[in-house]
Amino acid sequence: MSEERSLNFIEEIIENDLNSGKYKTLVTRFPPEPNGYLHIGHAKAICLNFGLTQKYGGYTNLRFDDTNPVTEKTEYVDSQQADIRWLGFEWKHELYTSDYFDTLYDFAVKLIENGLAYVDHGNAEEIAALKGTPTEPGTDSPYRSRSVEENLALFSSMKAGELEDGACILRAKIDMSSPNMLMRDPIIYRIKHAAHHRTGNKWCIYPMYDFAHGQSDSIEEITHSICTLEYVSHRELYDWFIAQLGIFPSHQYEFARLNLTYTVMSKRKLLQLVNEGVVTGWDDPRMPTISGLRRRGYTPESIREFCERIGIAKRENLIELSLLEFCVREHLNKTANRVMAVLDPIKLVITNYPEGKEEILIGENNPEAEDKGGLREIPFSNELWIEREDFMEEPAKKWFRLAPGAMVRLKNAYIVKCEDFKKDADGNVTEIHCTYIPESKSGEDTSEIHVKGTIHWVSTKHAKTAEIRVYDRLFSVESPDSEEGDFKDYLHPDSVKVIKEAYIEPYLAGADLESRYQFIRKGYYCLDKDSTADHLVFNQTVGLKDAWAKAKK
Ligand code: ATP
Ligand code: MG
Repeated sequence: MSEERSLNFIEEIIENDLNSGKYKTLVTRFPPEPNGYLHIGHAKAICLNFGLTQKYGGYTNLRFDDTNPVTEKTEYVDSQQADIRWLGFEWKHELYTSDYFDTLYDFAVKLIENGLAYVDHGNAEEIAALKGTPTEPGTDSPYRSRSVEENLALFSSMKAGELEDGACILRAKIDMSSPNMLMRDPIIYRIKHAAHHRTGNKWCIYPMYDFAHGQSDSIEEITHSICTLEYVSHRELYDWFIAQLGIFPSHQYEFARLNLTYTVMSKRKLLQLVNEGVVTGWDDPRMPTISGLRRRGYTPESIREFCERIGIAKRENLIELSLLEFCVREHLNKTANRVMAVLDPIKLVITNYPEGKEEILIGENNPEAEDKGGLREIPFSNELWIEREDFMEEPAKKWFRLAPGAMVRLKNAYIVKCEDFKKDADGNVTEIHCTYIPESKSGEDTSEIHVKGTIHWVSTKHAKTAEIRVYDRLFSVESPDSEEGDFKDYLHPDSVKVIKEAYIEPYLAGADLESRYQFIRKGYYCLDKDSTADHLVFNQTVGLKDAWAKAKK
């Protein structure tokens, strides 16, 4: 489909830049802060940055934007790398903003030497008070006219650890009356006596995002630095630093971040859900993290397809979660093997099938796949589990499943006729008795009996027991971020339903964590990492119903 769609605005810019010879090689980067696990929003930025260099040549760097020593961890670096690779992308260089701390320090010294930066002793309130408002100019700080020598000496003692956190900061000297508030002498370095996950205790001053980001792009000779719309107003500052320092002219372009319904998408908020035990971890299958989606059964192909479909916009919008579900359903329909699992079991006894007899029936793994996904063996006997909902004592109109006297086909097996059923003292049906038509075996049916309904089943004697977890949305409102109060007030109370004892085909005992299945008539499922040899756990990825496509028609 990428062949058919028209160019997005970033592709247009890149084609122009490559055609005009402005840049010879396209270089992009994906710059996560290692302060949490990556989420589906990051997947969009990953697909965009890596996708562009796949399409136009050149390469993409992975740069960990690790300028904040307090929130960053090696665990996050590792998980972020694993997630990018799982999505199907490989970076050219693995880089860290912290690798540039020496160069960035030298850049700051150069600004000071050129009279373009100064050390300010004002505290946060004092600095804010002098900043002015968007309609009124700010006022020069009393420290703004310090001599170059004094600034150099002070910046050097900041670096040497001679000053406390917050004692002073380094600011760029730009324009206190700029209509862009970010240009009113922004802070570029602060003192923070904290160990860094890579540089340890070497530094006690750290560059601010704005000072680090553009310069890191420039050091790496990134041609197109793509970020989200919040950074539009930062672009002027980005360009100013590069111009004043006379370094490689990287350019920044902004696109709309991905927002999804029924989801929050900031690492900080996702961390709260983890820390407060609302979910079981970053990879909880209800989380919008890449590791959560993976554990839920999403495939890299489906996530890439989703990112392709939503495209690149210049305005914020809210994407339906059901579109993501549509993409995975579509991919799994083509690739997942079909199996039978009974989630709410009731026993069906075939009274004319010899007790003790066993038969191996053959099923196609995937009628949608070219080779039908191969064949599998399904054991059959006189006692089966079927879904409780497939039997109705007093059938409704157009009921094509089991009811007293009614006939139905057992998938891959025989046609059966319901003769009788048993109830317990409370009136619950406990057992259904049927007879089967021996000449109606699937594939070699000579019975000439036509039935409208087909139901799935598992032979009781051969069935394995499994726990099945069925998920719903994590939040009960479309946009938890824009509701009043705390986003956690809007958590969906029943976002996971656990079925302790479902019955599955013995074939599924060989499932591994990467396999995906369609439980016939139920949905798509995959094995969960909580499984052990004698306790299998499956996650529902998504149901079979295609609500999004229907709504579109
Ligand atoms: P978060 O608040 O979730 O931590 P962030 O933007 O602070 O998001 P970073 O680690 O700084 O997270 O992001 C790395 C890259 O991913 C950035 O280029 C950022 O623009 C992009 N990104 C983050 N969230 C989204 C999103 N929802 N949609 C598209 N791109 C995103
Ligand atoms: Mg960030």
